[in-house]
Amino acid sequence: MQADDLAFDKRHIWHPYASMTHPLPTYPVVSADGYELILRDGRRLVDGMSSWWAAIHGYNHPVINQAIKHQISRMSHVMFGGITHPPAIELCRRLVTLMPSGLECVFLADSGSVAVEVAIKMALQYWQASGHPRYEFLALRHGYHGDTCGAMAVCDPDNSMHSIYQGYLPSNRFIEAPKRSFREAWKPGDETSLSALFSDYHQKIAAVIMEPIVQGAGGMRFYHPEYLRIARALCDRYGILLIADEIATGFGRTGEWLACHHANITPDILCLGKALTGGTMTLSATLTIRRVAETISNSAVGCFMHGPTFMANPLACAAANASLSLLEDESWRQRVENIASQLSRELSPLINHPMVSDVRVLGAIGVVEIKQTVNIAQLQHWFVEHGVWIRPFGHLIYLIPPYIISSKALTILIDAISASLDEPENFFVS
Ligand code: PMP
Repeated sequence: MQADDLAFDKRHIWHPYASMTHPLPTYPVVSADGYELILRDGRRLVDGMSSWWAAIHGYNHPVINQAIKHQISRMSHVMFGGITHPPAIELCRRLVTLMPSGLECVFLADSGSVAVEVAIKMALQYWQASGHPRYEFLALRHGYHGDTCGAMAVCDPDNSMHSIYQGYLPSNRFIEAPKRSFREAWKPGDETSLSALFSDYHQKIAAVIMEPIVQGAGGMRFYHPEYLRIARALCDRYGILLIADEIATGFGRTGEWLACHHANITPDILCLGKALTGGTMTLSATLTIRRVAETISNSAVGCFMHGPTFMANPLACAAANASLSLLEDESWRQRVENIASQLSRELSPLINHPMVSDVRVLGAIGVVEIKQTVNIAQLQHWFVEHGVWIRPFGHLIYLIPPYIISSKALTILIDAISASLDEPENFFVS
């Protein structure tokens, strides 16, 4: 990197959810290895974020690297219209085998948001093909499904970017977020507002879309599996499609292979992304049941109307195949369990800190909810100075480390969070 690179970055390059005039600082990472990010000046940061849920095996994994190198020497990309190729066939074969049975038709796309767009379009085309077009989706408050327009329209309208695009986005129906948390006792009646919405609007609703069990960007909330089971049962009763957005939760993050497994349910449409390639490349998959695929395909339109240029990119498929092969021996399960128990042991006591309103752990996810809003720039800087990469937002400081993190490194992350709470300048006074 050159001396003026950061100045150029600041002046010319958008970062996620960033201002061009008052950007938050960015930190130059020149390489990454295992659970560490290496800064330009040589400092190594312990990674608590897995690059937003994605790098589950850590960085620079030799098996994934080798698979990509092998594939690049054959072909990096070829169009998928009228052509197929071994990495895509292998990947879809794996996904059909590894995902809940019945989800047997796979659409590969570029990113999580596009997987959600594809799911929405599948549901719309399904109803159109059935001769009863429906245009509304039922989604949860505090839900988050991506940043493209269709996806934004099923995000919480108040607690997301949805509101600033109002007037342009289609309007959908929202239901209060599940109240009962993952470990609370379920009380009959907790589902009343959900069932009421179904009974009032079932003739209009094309599909229900949910992040199963963990509502991520909308607040890192863990809700009760019974809610999901009831949602599934209501969808069955009224013949409505259930879309599970497992883009963040898939591939073991919550302690189960899919978050849906906590409730033992199978959705009609499943969205995967992020960790699909072990966080090395952008790729997503939307899987559906044959009834949906056949209804769409046997319609007057005769096809599913979507086809991205980089659909089934062979390099990304090769990376995904390597990542899935690393998950095959199920050692992820023990790793995630170890992370979960260490988080429960070492992070949970922070509940006694006067700055903290809640601490929750599920699988390899640890969340500390703060009573005040985090000063992101300040706290981020503080974390980097203390050798860790943790990216807080709102009232939340959370950890979603790579599954391969050592227990010593996880303690470094937890200790950093703990110490940061005693530095008031890291937080806005509420
Ligand atoms: N759904 C969920 C649950 C997500 O967490 C995200 C990413 N934050 C997305 C969809 C969108 O994925 P992407 O950023 O790859 O478009």
